[in-house]
Amino acid sequence: MSERDKSAATIRIAMLGAGTVGTSVAQLLARHQHDLAHRVGAGLELVGVGVRDIGKPRVGIDESLITSDLESVVHSGADILIEVMGGIEPARSLILSAMQSGSSVITANKALMAQDGAALYQAAEQYGVDLYFEAAVAGAIPLIRPLRESLAGDRVTKVMGIVNGTTNFMLTKMDEEGADYDEVFDQANALGYLEADPALDVDGIDAAAKAAILAELAFHTRVTLADVYCEGIGEVTKADIQAAREMGFVIKLLAIAELVADTGEEDGIVVRVHPAMIPLHHPLANVRGSFNAVFIHAEAGGEMMFYGRGAGGDPTASAVLGDVVAAARHRVLGGRGPGESTYSGLQVLDIGRAETRYYVNLDVQDRPGVLAAIANAFAANGVSIQVVRQDGHGVEAGLVVRTHSGSESALRATVDQLRSMDEVRQVLGVMRVEGEE
Ligand code: NAP
Repeated sequence: MSERDKSAATIRIAMLGAGTVGTSVAQLLARHQHDLAHRVGAGLELVGVGVRDIGKPRVGIDESLITSDLESVVHSGADILIEVMGGIEPARSLILSAMQSGSSVITANKALMAQDGAALYQAAEQYGVDLYFEAAVAGAIPLIRPLRESLAGDRVTKVMGIVNGTTNFMLTKMDEEGADYDEVFDQANALGYLEADPALDVDGIDAAAKAAILAELAFHTRVTLADVYCEGIGEVTKADIQAAREMGFVIKLLAIAELVADTGEEDGIVVRVHPAMIPLHHPLANVRGSFNAVFIHAEAGGEMMFYGRGAGGDPTASAVLGDVVAAARHRVLGGRGPGESTYSGLQVLDIGRAETRYYVNLDVQDRPGVLAAIANAFAANGVSIQVVRQDGHGVEAGLVVRTHSGSESALRATVDQLRSMDEVRQVLGVMRVEGEE
């Protein structure tokens, strides 16, 4: 290290959690200490690591730093506290306490940010510290900083992405190997991809937390997990995936936040997570396995896509360390990063206000006039049909309909009407279609 580095103050770092992410953070901090010191203008020193079980082996972390006394870590006088323990409590109280003691906070905790981000932002403001959380959405992929800073001069109109690698892995397996849901669930479980509570992945809750964080940043409007419409992948069948393929589509679990503009008094945003069919030529269609990607549309910048590894120790630690460098630079040079920006205060609207397209798979009576009756049901609700495909005869008669764009509420009303018609024996599948212009 140069004389200048030596003379600069050391930035003291404390960390809560030393599991998958925390261990990688500690290892990368040690491995890249020389480079990081140059980038920050001061050395970075890990001064304490809080865990639950001090008996567990932690490769690459000095044993003397490890403690189960989390309060002592928080009050160690660190410049920066890294929170990579997860969960709401005690993480929330410990973060607030650290901020009160003057520490800037870096967290990877999407659940906490989506549920209680406002309280954390407020504390950061009150105590004049930084709050960064790049790792909370899409692991290594730079997404928070581009939305918060690089796109701050533009007007974002839509954010649409694949932000849960586990469900993307499962849907990719179903699509490429013809596997059914139960099989891929077991595979994901065996590989350790599923959260301890699998519902967080398969019911879309993890994706919804990330959607809330992205929506808040993109639209400068407070959005919490409770505002996000959420459907998981549990109802997606092999037949849906096959039907999608035959039409040139693939099924993905999408997180979508979009501006619903020019509608008078109720301008606002809709934030939703659900499986959707997207055309095979769409950039998100090629995001396979456990990768993540987020597609952003901004008025001046146009379309852009951010793609990479959405999870894993090192990828997530990369995002944490980027935040550490930013917060450490502020300690050395003065100043703070951006705080919460909710000045737009748009309404978060019901999913019924979203504009989308539907794919509807029907088991119908095989007799004259059925097609006309079904077309009338769509027309009666103001939904226009784009493509109809008829399969089979007799008891096997099937009809697949893809609509043009319509409001979610009109599309739902159409499906309700179809369900009540004599001509329709069963509505076999309904799925939204995204990414088609
Ligand atoms: P993990 O492997 O389960 O590690 C959690 C760590 O926190 C462990 O060291 C654990 O201690 C400690 N901990 C948890 N609860 C505690 C408590 N009540 N008291 C004391 N210590 C406690 O979790 P992870 O995968 O590293 O994830 C950490 C955070 O990063 C989460 O918020 C997660 O959502 C986020 N994240 C993870 C990934 C990823 O790929 N893993 C990606 C993006 C974001 P012990 O080791 O003693 O049990």
